[in-house]
Amino acid sequence: MGKMLPLMEEFYTIQGEGYHKGTAAYFIRIGGCDVGCHWCDVKESWNAELHPPTSTKTIIENAVKYSNVIVVTGGEPLTWDMSHLTKGLHEKNAQIHIETSGAYELSGEWDWICLSPKKNEITHTKRV
Ligand code: SF4
Repeated sequence: MGKMLPLMEEFYTIQGEGYHKGTAAYFIRIGGCDVGCHWCDVKESWNAELHPPTSTKTIIENAVKYSNVIVVTGGEPLTWDMSHLTKGLHEKNAQIHIETSGAYELSGEWDWICLSPKKNEITHTKRV
């Protein structure tokens, strides 16, 4: 339901790619992905059960200590309902970006969406 999320790792760094390249941001990596790209460089993210279920409240309170730009990545974050996470981060006045394959429908409210379609999954990301 998105009130608890499998938190793989989180870290403060510089966005290294895309339109916001060079922007300091706090990254939240959410576990869980069944897209199965053979070139994936974070295969350890695939099994959500390997990553501790963490309350969105805890994730939010920690993230905003570091930056007001938050990048949610994975895994495939849209495996989960992102509504609670994005609502809470926006209440803290954070700017929220997502990196997604588009394999699942969009949930949550985002300030920036980085969509990277994969050849073995059609893109489902759409505003609902
Ligand atoms: S969608 Fe992303 S996390 Fe999932 S297998 Fe492909 S590259 Fe890896």
